[in-house]
Amino acid sequence: MNPSSMSRSWWTSANGHADFPLHNLPLGIFTQVDGEPPRPGVALGDSILDLRALDGTGLLSGAAQQAVHACADGTLNGLFALGSGPRRALRERLLALLTEHAPEQAQVAPCLLDRHACSLHLPARVGDYTDFYVGIEHARNVGRLFRPDNPLLPNYKYVPIGYHGRASTVRPSGHPVLRPWGQTLPAGASEPRLGPSARLDFELELGIWLGPGNALGEVVPIGEAAEQVAGFCLLNDWSARDLQAWEYQPLGPFLSKSFITTVSPWVVTPEALMPYRCAQAPRPEGDPAPLPYLLDPEDQARGALDIQLEVLLLTPALREAGMPAERIALSNTQAMYWTVAQLVAHHSVNGCQLQAGDLFGSGTLSGALPGQHGSLLEITEGGKQPLRLSNGETRCFLEDGDEVILRARCHREGLGGLGFGECRGRVLPARG
Ligand code: MN
Repeated sequence: MNPSSMSRSWWTSANGHADFPLHNLPLGIFTQVDGEPPRPGVALGDSILDLRALDGTGLLSGAAQQAVHACADGTLNGLFALGSGPRRALRERLLALLTEHAPEQAQVAPCLLDRHACSLHLPARVGDYTDFYVGIEHARNVGRLFRPDNPLLPNYKYVPIGYHGRASTVRPSGHPVLRPWGQTLPAGASEPRLGPSARLDFELELGIWLGPGNALGEVVPIGEAAEQVAGFCLLNDWSARDLQAWEYQPLGPFLSKSFITTVSPWVVTPEALMPYRCAQAPRPEGDPAPLPYLLDPEDQARGALDIQLEVLLLTPALREAGMPAERIALSNTQAMYWTVAQLVAHHSVNGCQLQAGDLFGSGTLSGALPGQHGSLLEITEGGKQPLRLSNGETRCFLEDGDEVILRARCHREGLGGLGFGECRGRVLPARG
């Protein structure tokens, strides 16, 4: 859709909605009643458009109908596997049906359900989950804690650094976060101990849903990488820093990250984000150019994203006092040193098979300045400078009952905005 023609909907709660105006139309999987089979829907204002019910009205046909039928198993995997064609066709049809003065209004209106009365599920079966490390300020901030003189390792500006995460523990927003147990080496101790993590942290990340995927042995050229991106979400890569510090050498994070990863449940499509794309920031003088398989002029010109990211913390004391969650970080996806297309091209350059429903995390997206840090590890400089909240509380790491809420918003003058909805999780005490 031409962004200058962003139109109003006859469904009035969509107009001016901070997250889900008409031009967003993110895809998700929901249930209205506990125990019923999950089904696909689209967020619109305060509502969910029930796509199965919409199909039942006879108003869908062709590729748009194929898109909905592909979700018959209660996941978006089938839709992701179809690539961009049916996804775009569905979007175009929904825009036509939902726009102000659409003649089909009376048939579509009964398919709109109260969003807050529905439960959202994981949108897809996660095949594989890969977490990258492309937030260069985060890499610098964390590196500085360990290597003050040389925070970035020599490979950083050549290789989009990543590791294989745990797909089985990805959960949708709202799922409780049980404080994990693990091995740690307490300060000054010579032997490790087993116990609950005392340095539980969050990581503010952009999530990327993959599809349709490539065959084993087939490389995705960077010029075709955009076709492999099915949508975007927010991702909290919960991290137990004390477990991580003890276990991470030489192979990287393991149990310090695999206990849970939370994603926002709505899949914001590449089409919805099109108006908020921007040029990848030029590399600073002296940085190497990306190797040719990672360099595409079109990707450099339009392949970055301008999404404002926010972290809020709701402590038990704030909650009991009826206070709102307090913002503790404000950042932007422009902190990514590599574009999403570069991540796809790099991941597949060895012939690795990507599949519909695979999930990428960007890595923590921090800015360079105080107030822009996407993890407590950075905010508190490794637990040395406590974070002070407005009610006088302090935090070095997360305490039981703390709730972390990630939000994302896009805005461009004259184009209106959109949001991702929330990615939320509350810390529960470790098992006794
Ligand atoms: Mn991470």
